[in-house]
Amino acid sequence: MKTPVTVLGLGAMGTALARAFLAAGHPTTVWNRTAGRSPELDDLGVIRARSVVDAVVASPLVVVCLLDDTSVRSTLQPAASELSRRTLVNLTNGTPEQARRGLDWAAQHGVQYLDGGIMAVPVMIGGPAAFILYSGSAEAFEQHRDDLAVLGRPTYVGADAGLAALQDLALLSAMYGMFGGVAHALAMVSSEKLSPTAFTDDLLVPWLTAMLGSVTRLAKDLEYGAESGAAGSNLAMQAAAFGNFIDASEAQGVDPMVLRPIHSLLDRAVAEGHGDEDLAVLVRLLAKN
Ligand code: NDP
Repeated sequence: MKTPVTVLGLGAMGTALARAFLAAGHPTTVWNRTAGRSPELDDLGVIRARSVVDAVVASPLVVVCLLDDTSVRSTLQPAASELSRRTLVNLTNGTPEQARRGLDWAAQHGVQYLDGGIMAVPVMIGGPAAFILYSGSAEAFEQHRDDLAVLGRPTYVGADAGLAALQDLALLSAMYGMFGGVAHALAMVSSEKLSPTAFTDDLLVPWLTAMLGSVTRLAKDLEYGAESGAAGSNLAMQAAAFGNFIDASEAQGVDPMVLRPIHSLLDRAVAEGHGDEDLAVLVRLLAKN
């Protein structure tokens, strides 16, 4: 028999997790603060627990996916003693510090703890592109690797429970940086009534795809040092051009708010004598603060 699993939380993500466990044949018990959420799971054979304690005792593997750290702590506290000798996997978004506190709390109650960062939206759960970062108990990860694999590719990143959250937040930061830039770009083309889809398909996606190579090079420059200076795109040139981005946005009636912090950073890099260097300098300037 497949490992029985409990899922605490039936929001959009918790529901997707429960559905994936059910689809893979795991006896799946669920609990949600508001009863009766996600009725479609009933046809798939889900077991609904009447309390958190009932839900926890049903399975050796307990997955919690709630709104935030506060809701996780208030939900789990009444079931602390029942969690003893079970594995708790916290897939709620949180900070590294919250994850480390979660590990300490779990250790005090004899619970094996993994903190996770889900790199997927609900519709991707169980599909080939989904991956989930885990940190914390290596023993728990090895024990439940196959169970967790039904959600997405399980990627263990270390015994320090904060490392999954750290890298999850770093990945999401890069994603939001991209979305912020994309929102600005689409506002610019919309200001001239151009087709957003034609612009995106013909120009934006090919351009971003080409720039992905620069991301890899930036990381290598940072780790090993730049091989060839600014590789044709020095920061002084970029800072000078950036003024045009701001001016053109304002002329088109587009708020340049997502661009301004990048402009400031480029100007600062030049003012501090890095005008002939490359983008890796920006990482160093940010990391100093
Ligand atoms: P939803 O807003 O859809 O669901 C929130 C869940 O949290 C519900 O089950 C809700 O219960 C519960 N909840 C909220 N407050 C409390 C509380 N005080 N006590 C107990 N339960 C509470 O969020 P998602 O399911 O989308 O997200 C869940 C987690 O997964 C978040 O941390 C999110 O960052 C993370 N995540 C989500 C992704 C996504 O694309 N959706 C992607 C990657 C990670 P109730 O039904 O009673 O309101």
